Amino acid sequence: MKSRLVALIYALLVAVLFFFRPGPPVAPRGMRPFPCPYSTMLAICSDIDGTTPDEFEAYHKYLNTERDTQMGQGLGLDVGDSFWMYMGGDSGADADSKGRGQDAVMTWFEGVSDTPKNAKLIAYYFKRGWIDAIHSYGDFSRDDTTDTRFSRALAEQAATALSARDVFPTVWINHGNEANTQNFEIGSRVSYRQGARPGTPFYHADITIPAGIKFIWFSDNDKRFGRHNILYPVTLADGRKVWGFRRYTADWSTHGLHMQLCDANLDYCTAIGAPVIVTQHLGGGSTYHPLGTAARQALLGLAARQGRGEILVARTSRLLEYLRVRDHLVFAVSHGQTVDILGVDDPQLGYDPSPTLDMLRGMTFYVQDKDTASIRVGGEPVDEALLVRAGDETGRDTIGIAWFAPDVRNYLWGARDFRH
Ligand SMILES: [Zn+2]
Repeated sequence: MKSRLVALIYALLVAVLFFFRPGPPVAPRGMRPFPCPYSTMLAICSDIDGTTPDEFEAYHKYLNTERDTQMGQGLGLDVGDSFWMYMGGDSGADADSKGRGQDAVMTWFEGVSDTPKNAKLIAYYFKRGWIDAIHSYGDFSRDDTTDTRFSRALAEQAATALSARDVFPTVWINHGNEANTQNFEIGSRVSYRQGARPGTPFYHADITIPAGIKFIWFSDNDKRFGRHNILYPVTLADGRKVWGFRRYTADWSTHGLHMQLCDANLDYCTAIGAPVIVTQHLGGGSTYHPLGTAARQALLGLAARQGRGEILVARTSRLLEYLRVRDHLVFAVSHGQTVDILGVDDPQLGYDPSPTLDMLRGMTFYVQDKDTASIRVGGEPVDEALLVRAGDETGRDTIGIAWFAPDVRNYLWGARDFRH
């Protein structure tokens, strides 16, 4: 009897030590996959093909602000966009409903020259968050795919111009047909995409990647709406390490937007708690001006889901960075209550011992008591104003670092509310 009691006490002690030990840093165990109260996150990732500055401004005013717009009351969603430096293609297609051609498309430089065209506009919208990705250096698609206008010199010129205006995108999205030799390729595959292949006239990874690119879309189509493995590790042909990312590519024009954002798709990614990056060409084509009735209806539905706390809509760069940091966060939880964030152990981009608060936006931890829990970063407590304390649908308490505050300001260039 006595020995049984000793054994019981011993077992209890082991259990207590097991559950309350300060423990080795682990991630993402003990984390909620997404910030409270959301079940998942979604990004609308728009390629800039065929987009004029007029179209860009019209649909971003509608998507990002809450103003009255030609498409209706603004939705106030965090939707970023992409940009081009050059126009080196030979498409004869209209760029907009006014019948303007490809030379009206928003690009940093005129054609493939060194004369700035929409440089100020692109840099301005990049800083305001309406642009967050580079859709490769430009449109080099040509009927004769051996006749590319791209060269390393254009990448050098682009990198210098971007750096001069402090434009450092983290997201690179391949574009176009085989004449786009600038595109990046996964290191183990061989194709026309030469951007990371040293010794070719198109190699530029040594210029482009160190400027800040972390995430690359390698032109692979994906028909699955919502995945737990959006990010995957890639080593480029020149040995550089980056993250590849998957995007949903079905129905990727604006007249397919309502099919992408149909209830079945949104219900599915919410139910399984899988994030999704929805590929679009919001300003592409010339039929709509630029979003039709069905597309606007679908976007309203998405905004309502965000309003109900189901799907957090985030620009592509933020969604990708969130997943990268969440999946490699190094932290320790003491007594189930004090969360110490120690670093980000990223096997591709390296160990970061001092993540910034912006990198940690949305990180959410299960704790024993949300009201008394705390989070420290580098030993310093996170300001109460930046903490979110909430119970979630599992009945457990959480504490998290707040997601970015909604920014629905009207950044329209013509509105002149802001300094350019
Ligand atoms: Zn494109």
